[in-house]
Amino acid sequence: MSDCVFCKIIAKQIPAQIVFENESIIAFLDINPVHPGHTLVLPKTHVESFTDLPSEICGGVGATAQKLMKVFIEKMGYEGANLIQNNGAAAGQVVPHVHFHVIPRKKGDGLVHWPGRGYENGQEAMTGAQVRSALSEF
Ligand code: AMP
Ligand code: ZN
Repeated sequence: MSDCVFCKIIAKQIPAQIVFENESIIAFLDINPVHPGHTLVLPKTHVESFTDLPSEICGGVGATAQKLMKVFIEKMGYEGANLIQNNGAAAGQVVPHVHFHVIPRKKGDGLVHWPGRGYENGQEAMTGAQVRSALSEF
């Protein structure tokens, strides 16, 4: 898509630190990293949402993110990593080309987890039933 910043990186119209690419997938450093090494993994096909991503590409993107994470932990001295995918503006997606953030982590690196808010009485069981029902009908 012509006005998509990630499509421009894929087309080499704007620069990025590309760390991996093949015919269908690319991975490059996030320009505004949580930590150095924070990498984005995405399909080369312009798809806005994870829900629109064809399942045959889904596996390749997941395998690339997994490989990168293993390299961070097993080769580069990191102690953990986050895999994050912001899907839709309500979830914080800014660039409308589906992408996975792979963020290398070390203990005490200062990045805080999202807050857990718990459930009120009966709400957990009710929510579980709602999700099970929606899944069974899908
Ligand atoms: P999200 O909020 O999940 O859509 O994240 C979009 C990410 O894209 C942000 O972390 C940005 O820092 C990153 N980003 C935006 N423009 C570029 C760019 N030209 N090169 C690399 N990363 C970018
Ligand atoms: Zn795009």
